Amino acid sequence: MILNMLKSMLSNFDMDPVVKLPAQKLAIIQHKPLEAPDLSKIRSLASPGENLDMAQFDGQRYVQPWKKTRKGIEFLDVFKLLIVSLGAKAPSKKEVSSMLSCKMNWQLIKSPPDSGGTQVTWMGHACFLIQIDNIKILTDPVWSKRCSPSKFLGPKRFCQAPCRIEELPPIDVVVISHNHYDHLDEYTIKKLGNAPIYVVPLGNGKTLRSMCVNAGRIVELDWWQECSITPKVSLVCLPAKHWSKRGLLDNNKALWSSWGILGSSVKVYFSGDSGYCSAFKSIGEKLGPFDLALIGIGAYSPDSLREFHMSPEDSVMVHLDVKSKKSIAMHWGTWKLSLEHVFDPPRELKRQLKMRMLDPDSFISIRCGETQQVLGAIQDQEEEEVLLESNT
Ligand code: ZN
Ligand code: ZN
Repeated sequence: MILNMLKSMLSNFDMDPVVKLPAQKLAIIQHKPLEAPDLSKIRSLASPGENLDMAQFDGQRYVQPWKKTRKGIEFLDVFKLLIVSLGAKAPSKKEVSSMLSCKMNWQLIKSPPDSGGTQVTWMGHACFLIQIDNIKILTDPVWSKRCSPSKFLGPKRFCQAPCRIEELPPIDVVVISHNHYDHLDEYTIKKLGNAPIYVVPLGNGKTLRSMCVNAGRIVELDWWQECSITPKVSLVCLPAKHWSKRGLLDNNKALWSSWGILGSSVKVYFSGDSGYCSAFKSIGEKLGPFDLALIGIGAYSPDSLREFHMSPEDSVMVHLDVKSKKSIAMHWGTWKLSLEHVFDPPRELKRQLKMRMLDPDSFISIRCGETQQVLGAIQDQEEEEVLLESNT
């Protein structure tokens, strides 16, 4: 009895109650959300008179500057795609665990490179956790099982997200490329809440506000507009050949884009969804070279889908056009959205690199949950200097 009394007394004088909190909760409490950026400082990278690809807004909808290059989808293909979306030809759990997924390396995520580099972790499809200059950015995060307006119908995730959304470190910025369900997910946005700043192409703020995001946490940008997120990191909204649709009658009412993520010494390009077009050369000339490019390689069969998505052949051209030093494949291996075999895109990517006699390590596909580190120009230079010193 005396022992119990002593225990209860001691528990009232807990000297370090914080220790009892799980690590993740502690991180959230200590994390201070970024202040909303100063919108008056948004600037366009297009110089006066410069002929850059721009989307036109006709008062209702956005119209892209490129002509259609492929014929429309055929009825039989629509039928095949419907069957695929019901789950046909998705890989088994065994295939996924042996060829596609891996465990998260939390040690790496807890200790990203300092300001001389960046670190990205593939969370599946178009979602990356990007750690750059001490902030954490999520691209197109989707944790829902189905990328569809319905919880019961539509493509079902065959490769699960590598961690629960609650396990993520506190996210500072969410970057969205467009409003399709495989890129913008209500469940995920509601879970992330108002802690991050959301940076989106024009017209997507309305959808985010309907998902309970405060207007003050949303930044909407037009193509070629840049916004500083911190003194070291800015985001540039860039062209993409795609389209938007979320409801029945809202085709192209919100803009779509790719993104440049510019850090103090590392530049990252995120392609979003896009067909191959002239924009990539302009992006490379204006902002390249990029230290890292995250480029879509899947959803290209039947051929009509290549109007708005890239085959590995197109993706390799994008890799070259934007002058990427290292590229990582995305938009494959998560949902079955098209007719090519699930593991075809990375195989075809390797074949294309070989055909063009390009370094196979310059454009890689990684596992879902895998982390890759990329050194920036400054660190590259420092390493070269060290090498030179050691050689003399
Ligand atoms: Zn899309
Ligand atoms: Zn997509």
